[in-house]
Amino acid sequence: MTLPFDNSYARLPERFFAPFQPSTVSAPLLIQLNEPLARELRLDAEWLKSPDGLQMLAGNSFPEGAQPIAMAYAGHQFGQFSPQLGDGRATLLGEVVDIKGRRRDIQLKGSGPTPFSRRGDGRAAIGPVLREYIVSEAMAAMGIPTTRALAAVSTGDPVYRETVLPGAVLTRVGASHIRVGTFQFFAARSDEEAVKLLADHAIVRHYPDAAEAESPYRALLEAVIAAQASLVARWMGVGFIHGVMNTDNMAISGETIDYGPCAFLDTYDPAKVFSSIDQFGRYAYANQPGIAQWNLARLAEALLPLLHENRDEGVKIAQELIAGFRAHFEQAYMAVLRAKFGLLTEEEADGDLMQGFLDRMAEGGADFTRTFRALNAAFGDPEQDRDVRAEFIDPMLYETWAPDWRARLAREPGQDGAPSELMRLANPAFIPRNHRIEEAIRAAIENADFTLFHRLNTVLARPFDDQPEQADLAIAPHPDQRVMRTFC
Ligand code: AMP
Ligand code: MG
Ligand code: MG
Repeated sequence: MTLPFDNSYARLPERFFAPFQPSTVSAPLLIQLNEPLARELRLDAEWLKSPDGLQMLAGNSFPEGAQPIAMAYAGHQFGQFSPQLGDGRATLLGEVVDIKGRRRDIQLKGSGPTPFSRRGDGRAAIGPVLREYIVSEAMAAMGIPTTRALAAVSTGDPVYRETVLPGAVLTRVGASHIRVGTFQFFAARSDEEAVKLLADHAIVRHYPDAAEAESPYRALLEAVIAAQASLVARWMGVGFIHGVMNTDNMAISGETIDYGPCAFLDTYDPAKVFSSIDQFGRYAYANQPGIAQWNLARLAEALLPLLHENRDEGVKIAQELIAGFRAHFEQAYMAVLRAKFGLLTEEEADGDLMQGFLDRMAEGGADFTRTFRALNAAFGDPEQDRDVRAEFIDPMLYETWAPDWRARLAREPGQDGAPSELMRLANPAFIPRNHRIEEAIRAAIENADFTLFHRLNTVLARPFDDQPEQADLAIAPHPDQRVMRTFC
């Protein structure tokens, strides 16, 4: 079988990657193939499900056309720079051009050791594979830029973490796997030629308009800043906490990448942290925009020699562009929030009105997703206010805010009380709830039972639709069901 690979990254100089090291898993079994995505990628779903296809999805053998490599990258992890990370448990099989003409990477995660594995085993446990599958597909269904999951395969081999766990491989699809840390890898080696080659590659691939700009590399940096500002605003809008926003986990494409200890807010709390490895709350929910900006400053540093031939001038340009992140973010975030409150027009006082609601949610222990979804139902129908009220420990917190919102809605042009599509599509009914993900993972590990995993995927493919028969998946966790810590 020949797959239609065209591997532009593998055509870059050899110092950009390490060749793949073959290794096999003993008994691959398909957990899930994402058939709609396979079709989008012009891959033959029947073949992928066949024994030969399964061998590829498990990393056991490669079809004609694949050029498996492990990508080199560096990165700041929790603020500390590591000059050499790289794909320690991932293999880029190659790139395909999808039905819309977009180039997409196909990568195996958990397929075995690479020259970048250091002390790691190159493997993935089934839990993180299922979590990434569920959450990345849910993000895609919510319209948030993200890498995708093409397949999950169990390997039949154990992996050794704190306990012995079943191993699995995820097939990840991304616009590319170029990270801020990829630029840092070469910058740290003062390899300006490579930084330039990588920047040129990124421009062709992700920001072709930048090539037409007066200064293409400035335009590249600015485009990445805008894409990341918009991405993080979208995360904030659904209560997503990435959990490990290291510079090696920030994609130049503007897609969400690297679903490790990520989680969604239940009750709204801006300081919320789930990740077990985030001891000091560096990557807390409300810190995400500031961290994104910090990471982009690291990108700007790596690009410095390309921004201007004079270093001081380059620094000035970089500082200006990085400072511009705030404005990009504020604009994107306000647009996300306005949609969540059903506001089509802009008024000066909107920020205060919306922040007032968020503050009350924090005080009232309100569930982020349920409260906004209830607000959506109450948009044209004050009768439904009771469902919003019910989300607050003290209903007065809502009661005393609602009149201001209604007065504001009354000033929206063409307000006829009809449900707002804008608002519905900003407020999912279903998110991947942490406790449900954990439950699905437990069932898979303990009983090889994937029923809940499949059900979550089906329901989360339509996150904005009321699905009354699935209402149990929209319920917030009871205190004893609450997930306190997530692990990767
Ligand atoms: P992450 O926390 O997933 O962003 O990974 C950080 C770095 O550790 C990357 O270079 C990974 O490739 C590497 N890594 C993570 N887990 C493993 C593993 N099990 N084996 C080898 N390398 C790993
Ligand atoms: Mg990573
Ligand atoms: Mg990871």
